[in-house]
Amino acid sequence: MINFRFIFTLIMTLFLLNIQSVWAAKLVLVIDDFGYRQRNEEQIILLSPNITVAVLPNSPNAKHIATLAHNHGNDVIIHLPMAPMGKQPLEKDTLFPYMNEIEVQRIVTNAVERVPYAIGINNHMGSLMTSNLNGMQHVMKALSRYSMFFLDSKTIGKTKVKQAANEYNIPVIGRDVFLDDEQKENSIAHQFDVAVAIARKNGYAIAIGHPHPQTVNVLRSKLANLPIDVELTKLGQLITPLPSMKQPKKVTLNDIVEKYKKLINDMYLFYNLEKK
Ligand SMILES: [Zn+2]
Repeated sequence: MINFRFIFTLIMTLFLLNIQSVWAAKLVLVIDDFGYRQRNEEQIILLSPNITVAVLPNSPNAKHIATLAHNHGNDVIIHLPMAPMGKQPLEKDTLFPYMNEIEVQRIVTNAVERVPYAIGINNHMGSLMTSNLNGMQHVMKALSRYSMFFLDSKTIGKTKVKQAANEYNIPVIGRDVFLDDEQKENSIAHQFDVAVAIARKNGYAIAIGHPHPQTVNVLRSKLANLPIDVELTKLGQLITPLPSMKQPKKVTLNDIVEKYKKLINDMYLFYNLEKK
């Protein structure tokens, strides 16, 4: 006898998978500081093409890792070094608020040249620089020559990134969660869950991590068991939504019937063949 319960379950599963792609909570993972730890970085790229990678322009491996990520389908952004308030080792060409427009433009242009395929920028460190409106205006002016967006890593509360970006019509978005401030697997796993909760509440969440071995381990297990209502989404897709994402299509009963009519037909034929 035909198993109607099986067919009903199958159809409902397909239906739920279908609406999932329209209404899923969007989780964006950005992994910073690329260009120094090739092995870990390759592991991250291989986890999913939907992970976004942020490459330090003056790192030794910048061009190679950006190209590798792009070829694998990952979004690449420039991880632009900006001055912090505290004393920390600085990257070459770290941006400071005292720098003039020409100097900032030289550094931004150089960064764009050193990171192929980049579609946006986020800040490496930068509590001093991003809280300085004049400095960030210089950055956004230099950026306005390219069609790039800015992801504010939010390394400080009183950031001027949004204000400066708006003045130059640069698309801007902010980080929600840091995954691995504490480099312990249980803490990283907790932060991942926080990001998922924010994505469910707000429709999306942006989490930033680093190529630490602990982060790689947690992402491997978390992404293998990602809840069905959460979709790992590229940063570029979130900022420049695809036409289908801009206006979620309303799924009508007729759509469902049409979509699965063939499937039901096929199963009916299959059942009849079995009977013969
Ligand atoms: Zn960084």
